[in-house]
Amino acid sequence: MTGTTLVWLRNDLRIADNPALSAALKHGMARAVHIEATDGRLRRRGAASRWWLHHSLNRLAEELAQLGVALDTVEGEAQTELFKAIAAHGSDAVYWNRRYGRAEREIDAAIKARLKREGIATESFAANVLVEPFEMATGTGKPYSVYTPFWNALKKQDIAKPLPRPRHGETIRPQRVDSDYREADWGRKLGRHWQIGEAAARERLDRFLDELVLDYPGDRDIPRKAATSGLSPHLAFGEISPRQVWHAAQAMAQHAPAKASAIDKFLSELGWRDFNYNQLYHRDDIATVPMVAKYGGLKWRHADAAFEAWQRGRTGIPIIDAGMREMWETGVMHNRVRMLTASLLAKNLLIDWRKGEQWFWDTLVDADAANNPGNWQWVAGSGLDASPYFRIFNPVTQGERFDPAGDYVRRWVPEVAGLPDKLVHQPWEAPDAAALDYPAPIVDLKVSRERALEAFKAL
Ligand code: FAD
Repeated sequence: MTGTTLVWLRNDLRIADNPALSAALKHGMARAVHIEATDGRLRRRGAASRWWLHHSLNRLAEELAQLGVALDTVEGEAQTELFKAIAAHGSDAVYWNRRYGRAEREIDAAIKARLKREGIATESFAANVLVEPFEMATGTGKPYSVYTPFWNALKKQDIAKPLPRPRHGETIRPQRVDSDYREADWGRKLGRHWQIGEAAARERLDRFLDELVLDYPGDRDIPRKAATSGLSPHLAFGEISPRQVWHAAQAMAQHAPAKASAIDKFLSELGWRDFNYNQLYHRDDIATVPMVAKYGGLKWRHADAAFEAWQRGRTGIPIIDAGMREMWETGVMHNRVRMLTASLLAKNLLIDWRKGEQWFWDTLVDADAANNPGNWQWVAGSGLDASPYFRIFNPVTQGERFDPAGDYVRRWVPEVAGLPDKLVHQPWEAPDAAALDYPAPIVDLKVSRERALEAFKAL
């Protein structure tokens, strides 16, 4: 039997700029497998991500079928499932694109060692970051802990050119993926907001660069506007690669010099993704261990009712509730509002940021193993180059600044929609506040701010 090359797909659910897939097709016959790994050491995917994954794999199976590549999707322990697939298909080589979490790297290393012992060829590739974390080091050879120098160094790197779509093989019939998957009502709701898959990702990028990027620097903080790229879930699942985004944006800057500085700003945000992947690579589990050790000593409050009000968008603070409801409805939340909701939880409410991070993990379609904990630690103060502990966002003044006419808040919190602009961010000041079908704030912003300052200062 001539062997096939098995492509082990993980967070790289695309055809173009997929080096493992391209190399396998060059080698000859290829097959692909996606394993929803149940290894105890790995973080289980959240509910919104499982929904996205199901649809993304279905799209990908169709695309791969056009290249003559069958995709198997299985669930189980990574090593066991991979070797089952190798045996089933008589594979003589296994290729994959590298990942950067510690547990993932250890699993991959153990598998690579066994492949070598068993005489099966194996190769891994760089595909999912701009520059791999082990290629980035400060002048003294240490990992970066401050963003600006990291970004300045990253910009100067030669970012690899994305690979083109590999050539067509003979089309085969695509398989349906996960036939026992049942779409919950929540999934159907999320589905109203998203087009999933590689083609949709590319369309979003092109539209963003054509129509939106010029206004990105000024509008990206305005939650009412759809002024950002909306690429985060596509990047999280690898339906598009950061290198594709980078080079498409650079090409646009060349072609339309008026957009160059806006594109620079956009790419500097994309750079945070690599920065967070560097932390994921170099630090202990960033979803659970504060990057700055002294923050481990913080005395968090146990306040279940307040936590639940925060989750449900029932805190009585409109911009917070708007963000939490937007996330529940759409699977994403505007970046500015993510900062405000996280700050309210970790600072005003003094509830452990890890609880909030887990809720985001479960409900975001862009839930990302580096970006979610990295940003939570940034807001909570325990991250590297984090927001300083005394920076406690005031959701009322932030609302007035970034949502001055209250459009965003009115959209998601209809209970306050009838209030005049100057009260919409603080409905408790309205003369007939008690008559509103909306809770009083669960926390006094001023008192809780002082409490947080003391708790953080005590470290
Ligand atoms: P754009 O502004 O168009 O940016 C383009 C891309 O750059 C994004 O898709 C993302 O990949 C990257 N990027 C932008 N801002 C950041 C940032 N602050 N940190 C890291 N990368 C960034 N982003 C995630 O991708 N997954 C998460 O799980 C996630 N959790 C977050 C939790 C909190 C508490 C906060 C404050 C932010 C979080 N972010 C997360 C970062 C940011 O909010 C989203 O990346 C952004 O809102 C996605 O929208 P966009 O794709 O339109 O962004």
